[in-house]
Amino acid sequence: MFNKRTKIKMLLSSGKEGEQVTVMGWVRTFRNNQFIALNDGSTNHNLQVVAALGAFDEALLKRITTGASIRASGLLVASLGKGQSIELKAGSIEILGDSDAEKYPLQPKKHSLEFLREIAHLRFRTNTFGSVFRIRHSLAFAVHKFFHEKGFVYLHTPIITSSDAEGAGEMFRVTTLSPDAPPRNEDGSINFKEDFFGKSANLTVSGQLEGELGAMAFSEVYTFGPTFRAENSNTTRHLAEFWMIEPEMAFHDLEDNMLLAEEFIRYLIGFVMDNNREDLDFLAQRLAEEEKSLPQDKRSELGLIEKLEFVRNNEFQRLTYTEAIDILRESNHNKKKKFQYPVEGWGVDLQSEHERYLVEKHFKKPVILTNYPKEIKAFYMRQNDDGKTVAAMDILAPGIGEIVGGSQREERLDRLETRMREMHIPAEELSWYLDTRRFGTVPHAGFGLGFERMVQFVTGMTNIRDVIAFARTPKNCEF
Ligand code: ATP
Ligand code: MN
Repeated sequence: MFNKRTKIKMLLSSGKEGEQVTVMGWVRTFRNNQFIALNDGSTNHNLQVVAALGAFDEALLKRITTGASIRASGLLVASLGKGQSIELKAGSIEILGDSDAEKYPLQPKKHSLEFLREIAHLRFRTNTFGSVFRIRHSLAFAVHKFFHEKGFVYLHTPIITSSDAEGAGEMFRVTTLSPDAPPRNEDGSINFKEDFFGKSANLTVSGQLEGELGAMAFSEVYTFGPTFRAENSNTTRHLAEFWMIEPEMAFHDLEDNMLLAEEFIRYLIGFVMDNNREDLDFLAQRLAEEEKSLPQDKRSELGLIEKLEFVRNNEFQRLTYTEAIDILRESNHNKKKKFQYPVEGWGVDLQSEHERYLVEKHFKKPVILTNYPKEIKAFYMRQNDDGKTVAAMDILAPGIGEIVGGSQREERLDRLETRMREMHIPAEELSWYLDTRRFGTVPHAGFGLGFERMVQFVTGMTNIRDVIAFARTPKNCEF
């Protein structure tokens, strides 16, 4: 057996003087031909491994370079060095993998996030990405814990779908047809009957419609998987491949839906605050450093920890779309023509600058916006009695904008069919979906939380490319 070792996080928190231990990891730095800062990814804190002068071969010492992997065994002793109470007095050191110091791209100095994106295969070895990805893990775990404890069933909805009626965004096509000479119909269009699935297929943009089918049997389900949007939006909040959590609940109305979404977000934040404090503190400090270089008015009013504390402990602001439009229209910002898209009439979709004004300037807290005009929302949202709006809700978060999109679903078959006709959505293709309204329909609701946006919110990372391992964005699919 090879892996008989103690993880560094464990050692640093509960290792005792006099214990004989083995550690393995990657060398961060090697000082004075004596002091190795060793990291194994369990924490940002390195273990100091001391190679006593004269105790090791020169040839071996030369191979202890930044990035090299080693195994070290020895005795834990009290440390005289600053910032650690314990260190390892090495009895043996074995090089597992050399790293040419001249060529290793991750020098022990500060690198820009842009540079690290180019070497995303190595950036996990930095403190920033160590913290981000341990928190990402923790959030994923908390997602399952939250729903499991409430009795939700985790439903794996398909990644390849043939329904193109969801309307959530542009889709990536999945095909095995030859791009050079695809089979054609008489009118020249491509004949997808010849394709792998006998019809045209795409990568899913959302698991919601299938989630609704599950909710009509299990009462409460959630999905948590990758979704894909071929939209050409090169922003700090959009990925072409991102992970989404989509709970779907029978016997829930819009109010129940909002309560659950808010409880969920606050739970996730609390979980990370309670379980990842060390990594959060590191990121909070990183963010504070970064913001020092910004002009005063661009800096956050609250530090990362204070922001999370605030959101964890305070209720979200609720208001209707109509109220939001009034606030925006009457704002000085609008009157002074500071919005790129001025707010004039009722019915327009809100731009992210408007959403951010509401959460960051006006309310200074997360906002749940409800009852949007039906024209700017999807066909499956429940129509309100006013004939103009639907029972939709979006949750907007400071620094991020939209983090959740959801609604009560239209459970009345006739209303749903009418709306689909108005929006030119072919009912034949969605007959399986409409069956839920034919056989035991119930009021139900659900929402989608963009997982990376949640990770952004919790870690304070400003670019979504820095909270997913290998980002897929327009013109970029490396690694
Ligand atoms: P936006 O207006 O920000 O593009 P959307 O209205 O397209 O969002 P929905 O279709 O409601 O978003 O998707 C649900 C959630 O998924 C959003 O609230 C957001 O958190 C997340 N999301 C949507 N598109 C993306 C994307 N391209 N990359 C990352 N997350 C996304
Ligand atoms: Mn979008």
